This record gives sequence, structure tokens and C-alpha cells, in this order.
Amino acid sequence: MTKLALAFDLGGTELRGALVERGGGVAARVSAPTLAGAGSEAVIGQIITLAGTLLAEHPQAKVAGIGMCAPGPLDPKAGIVIGPPTLAGWHDVPLIDILSRQFGLPVRLENDANAAALGEWRFGAGRGSGSLVFVTVSTGIGGGVVADGHIYHGRRGLAAEIGHMTITGEGDRCFCGAVGCFEAVASGTALGRRATRLTATGDGSLLRRLSGDGDVSARHVVEAARAGDHRALELIDAEAKWLGVGFTNLLHLYSPDLIVMGGGLANGFDLLARGIRATVEQRAMPAYRDVPIVQAQLGDRAGLIGAASLILWEGEPGAPLAIAQDEDNGASKRADAREASHG
Ligand SMILES: [Zn+2]
Repeated sequence: MTKLALAFDLGGTELRGALVERGGGVAARVSAPTLAGAGSEAVIGQIITLAGTLLAEHPQAKVAGIGMCAPGPLDPKAGIVIGPPTLAGWHDVPLIDILSRQFGLPVRLENDANAAALGEWRFGAGRGSGSLVFVTVSTGIGGGVVADGHIYHGRRGLAAEIGHMTITGEGDRCFCGAVGCFEAVASGTALGRRATRLTATGDGSLLRRLSGDGDVSARHVVEAARAGDHRALELIDAEAKWLGVGFTNLLHLYSPDLIVMGGGLANGFDLLARGIRATVEQRAMPAYRDVPIVQAQLGDRAGLIGAASLILWEGEPGAPLAIAQDEDNGASKRADAREASHG
């Protein structure tokens, strides 16, 4: 039986678990609504229960360890979840210690956006690249940077908090307290808010009809834009411009081989791509303009697969790709593709 890792993606609304193969395949998945208001002990109890379910389904699984991702701020080296705003009662929780004692297995912890970046880099849209920036655009904006084959951590693992880089001097205040954060102007939440302000209850607009005359969300804007609605298309244009401004900064800062966009708003990537590109071409210095900006491929599996790879590919950042070939056919095919793309 192939070597597997248990992986968990701890989110503010959903706790996901999986058994993941070294080649990135997901052998089994489970999930539960996170008991986000109940404190760390309750949620750790949920992790233990989900692990039991996965292992009961696959009693022969050779589990090499546990890869875990959670919202920041967290310290991946010390294995401590410092205090995510979406999880009540989590203050400096030594998650690696707790889980390794519980299971008697090695445990690795990573920030969720970093884990997703790693997943997309090894097995998704960034396969075969040396460096990438992963940007997740949904309720907020998060990101992870793979630089020369390694997650870029910075001091205390706090690097690449790209949602809070300042990209304008005005607009709505960000939850962090500042004005003009990338997240405050370009997240799905910001797009929904602009759409809500642009329309009014009972105005008969497609945006309001889609939202049942309530607040308009980013999803409604994408849906209305697909139907050719003018206002929605203008909102998409403005959104693409803001994303393009932020992405231009990322190109200048990190010089990645590509930018990968994930998160809920990536469902509208086809609508946004042209506007993002146009803004980058306008604003980036010439040497950066041809960097591909692409849609993420792994969807909500990216964090799980990236977290698992912390165990299954430990010590092998940017490892020779042929190593995957002794595991299973799927992995060897992917490894071949990666080698080919290295040219
Ligand atoms: Zn902010």
C-alpha cells in the first residue's frame, strides 16, 4: 500500500480532512462544520474524530504523518496557532505538540494560504515552476509565495500577508484597521459591497433579482456578468483593475514564474483575466509583463494536498521529480509532465 499522510484544513466554517498520496491523489475525504465558537479543545476533538473516520475506512493505510493547515497568524516552526480571528478561544495553541502526542506521528503545520500555494506548486497550476505567487480571493485576500522551491516564511512565518498591502489611499476601512488594503478594495466582499451600493432594493436590476433583493454578493456579480448585464460587467472591469494593481505589486516584489489565482472569485477568472492583463501591461515594468496569470486548479483540495506534502515530501523542496515514480502510476505521469515542462 502506498505511503499516505493524514491532512487537515482547519477553516473558520469547515474542517476538512483527507488521506493524501505522495503523488497528490486524495484517497479519502471527510469534513464537518467547524465548532468555531467552542474553543480549541472542541475543535481538536473534531480533528481526532475525523482522523478516526478516515483510518477506519482505510485500515491498511500506512500513515507517515499528519499535515495540517490553519488560518494565520501561526508559527509553522514552533507549531503554534497564534490566534486566528475566525476561531474563538485559540490563543497560542501548540497544535503540533498536541496532535503528535495524540497520534504518535510526526505533525507539520502551515498557514492555510501557504499550504494551498504549495499544493498548487507541486500538483496544480504551478507544476514545474521554480517560483510562484498564489493569491486566494474570496471573503478576504490571502496569499503564499513559493520562492526558488521553498515557501517564503519570513520572520515568525508571517510573510506574504498580501491582502494587507496598501494599494490606494482611500476607500472602506479594512478589518485590520487600515485604509486602502488590497483586501479592502479587491476581495469578493468588496466587490459585493460595491454592487450593493450601486443598486437598490426593488430597483428591478438583475443584480438585485439574483440576490432576492438582499445584499449583492460577488457570486451574483459574476452570474449577472455572464448574462451580459451592463452594470455587472462594469463592476467586473473595476474589480479586474484592482486585482491587476495588486498583482503588479506582486510581480515587482517576488518576480514569480507565474501568479495563480484561487478562492471563490476564481470562478469568474475567465471574465476577469482580460482586465487584469490590461492593467498589468499598463503598470508593470516591461520585464515583468509577460508573466502568466492563471486560475488555480486544485479548488478546495489545494490546502489539504499542500499540507500533506509537508509530510510526504519533507526535506525535498524542489526535489528531483523522478522520485515520485516508484509510488504509483498517477504520480509518475505527473512527474513526467513536470520534467517535460522544465524543458
Ligand atoms: Zn488590512
